[in-house]
Amino acid sequence: MNPVERFIKYTKVDTQSDDTTGTTPSTEKQKNLSRLLVEELKELGVNDAYMDEYGIVYGHLKGEGDMKLGFNAHVDTALEVTGANVNAQIIKNFNGVAKLNDELSLTVDQFPALKKHIGKDIVVTDGTTLLGADDKAGIAIIMSALEYFHEHPEVKHKNLSISFTVDEEIGEGPKHFSLEKMDADYAYTIDGGDIESIEIENFNAKGVQVNIKGVSVHPGEGKNALINACLLLNELINAMPKGDTPFEAGFDDGYWHINGIEGEVDHASMSMILRDFDKEKLNRRAEILLKKAEELNKQYPKAHVDVKIYDQYENMREYVDKDPTPVNMALEVLKKHGLNPRISKIRGGTDGATFSKMGLLTPNLGTASSNHHGRYEYLVIQDFEKMIEIVKDLMKY
Ligand SMILES: [Zn+2]
Repeated sequence: MNPVERFIKYTKVDTQSDDTTGTTPSTEKQKNLSRLLVEELKELGVNDAYMDEYGIVYGHLKGEGDMKLGFNAHVDTALEVTGANVNAQIIKNFNGVAKLNDELSLTVDQFPALKKHIGKDIVVTDGTTLLGADDKAGIAIIMSALEYFHEHPEVKHKNLSISFTVDEEIGEGPKHFSLEKMDADYAYTIDGGDIESIEIENFNAKGVQVNIKGVSVHPGEGKNALINACLLLNELINAMPKGDTPFEAGFDDGYWHINGIEGEVDHASMSMILRDFDKEKLNRRAEILLKKAEELNKQYPKAHVDVKIYDQYENMREYVDKDPTPVNMALEVLKKHGLNPRISKIRGGTDGATFSKMGLLTPNLGTASSNHHGRYEYLVIQDFEKMIEIVKDLMKY
């Protein structure tokens, strides 16, 4: 199957996840792609492929040598823009402007990173949905590499372990992931952007939920009685360090970020995220919130400020640094393909960050796509094809 056709076939399956359902998978429709992938894996000789009760796909291909090498991508797409009715378009010989529809165009002016792709072929959306190259390009890369070994039984490959996770976009990809079912010594997520990047560092991440109970009385009789939950929330926000939001944060910086606020006199709530490559800086932001809540609770004993902070994911750097094997293997193969590999950071998380913490070191490699989570998402076909060659080489014995 032509790899681009394969990719486009996957984009047609709506697999958007949902952070409000509390189930795994968060949306049943993710299983539609998981089921399709199980079928295709079996056709490609991965005979033990199956989908577990959570919608996660696992499969193994016996090969040569002792090493068991894993490859992972995620089936779900992001929440920001719909992933239903994706209508991918191929633009041949990109000249700097790709028309998505009558109103929207993807241009080099708006996205300077596109400059180096002028003259290549790209896949874009029709401007009404995301593309879902994050991470269906990753799936298509892995499947296309497997197809090669199926068609060339004379070419030797390593023992391969494949997994496709659900709910990566809501940070729950690893929630029910089983190292035993995966059964690999090292793995790669194919879930990045630029194909020259090997990502071994990501944010430490915490989520914050604030609930404030105020005291509501007639404002005319409010003296020493009315405690406005919105104002308490305002004090809590003002305690956070200035200049420390996504708007100001540079590439190496973390931030605090408010996802949403609801409030009236009697009750106010806020959801917030904390992110930093540096664990101590992250913890400091969390402590500021907890300390301010304590102060407010002392100052206003009739009100109540509740701050709950929970861990989301951790920087994989300290784990990946313990054994350079997977990074060195990737460096070698990227160089062999004439690329200039860069060890880099992700200003976010990947499933591999948590796999690494669980004990399966899993750096992240590129998918040849960019502008993820939005209408301007695109895939660069020549880079995507190169990435298939790279993954084939990693798989080779
Ligand atoms: Zn992704």
